[in-house]
Amino acid sequence: RAKGDGRGRARLFEPAMEQQLVERRRLESELREALLRGQLELFYQPLVQVATRRIIGFEALMRWRHPGRGMVPPGEFIPAAEENGLIVQMGEWALLQACREAARWPDGLRVGVNLSPVQFRSKRLEAAVEAALAASGLEPGRLELEITESSVMHDPEATLALIGRFRAMGVRVAMDDFGTGHSSLAYLRHFPFDKVKLDMAFIREIEQPANLAIVRAVTGIAESMAIGTTAEGVETEAQFATIAREGCAEAQGYLFGAPCPAEAIPALLAGVNGIEAGMATTAA
Ligand code: C2E
Ligand code: MG
Ligand code: MG
Ligand code: MG
Repeated sequence: RAKGDGRGRARLFEPAMEQQLVERRRLESELREALLRGQLELFYQPLVQVATRRIIGFEALMRWRHPGRGMVPPGEFIPAAEENGLIVQMGEWALLQACREAARWPDGLRVGVNLSPVQFRSKRLEAAVEAALAASGLEPGRLELEITESSVMHDPEATLALIGRFRAMGVRVAMDDFGTGHSSLAYLRHFPFDKVKLDMAFIREIEQPANLAIVRAVTGIAESMAIGTTAEGVETEAQFATIAREGCAEAQGYLFGAPCPAEAIPALLAGVNGIEAGMATTAA
């Protein structure tokens, strides 16, 4: 017994910790099951061109259709998957699935796929991207990999080389959630991103001078370096008007649509872009 052995040893397994460990083990085996049994799904959220308000692509966002708990959002299972390494397989599945889906979309619409820092460090990533493109037939320029600052920070040299190889493949690379954590404006100078996504933390209260100043600084630097900008979490017309005035090229947020199942995409495109033809689905 760890408790009260009277020799002053560290008690490794307090009941609460043991409980946590049990929970984590259970989540891990459940996630393995989910992957095997096809319980993971991708939802898609529209990316809109600010100048025209047309949909120019979608970001793929993972969901877990849990048999007992319903739709589980990524915040509740991705951290665990990163800890136990399952995120590598899950991310490979997402890459392939997103590329296959996007290959059916009309008009060269792009698809954004999130990469975990764990996946970004794995030796398999480059091959996984190549395999997803080959299997889906998706034009590389329609795939946009979203990486975060923790990927960059972990190994800047390796990141630079990897981004270079992706770009040589014709795949786009976006810096996600910019401005949170330890982002540095220097990243935009040192790494050849195609796009920077401004975190929704700045958009939510964009009327506050500090937030506005950050948005203005980032869009200014990005523009001078020919890097595209996306404002994340745009929920109101007022926020949209401000990011438009500040020169953000793209917007994403509930104002234009929450993440939705792939089946909802044709109707969304028809409504927003007026595209009826071109989708490889059958009309009812
Ligand atoms: P993210 O990549 O920054 O994705 C944007 C998140 O903001 C999504 O949350 C989206 O639903 C949410 N969002 C979009 N517009 C609005 C808005 O107007 N208002 C508000 N309040 N929220 C908005 P979601 O789907 O829960 O995903 C959370 C995070 O989980 C993602 O943040 C990403 O970091 C991670 N994630 C999602 N799918 C994957 C994946 O396939 N692989 C990896 N590694 N991470 C993923
Ligand atoms: Mg993202
Ligand atoms: Mg983001
Ligand atoms: Mg985010």
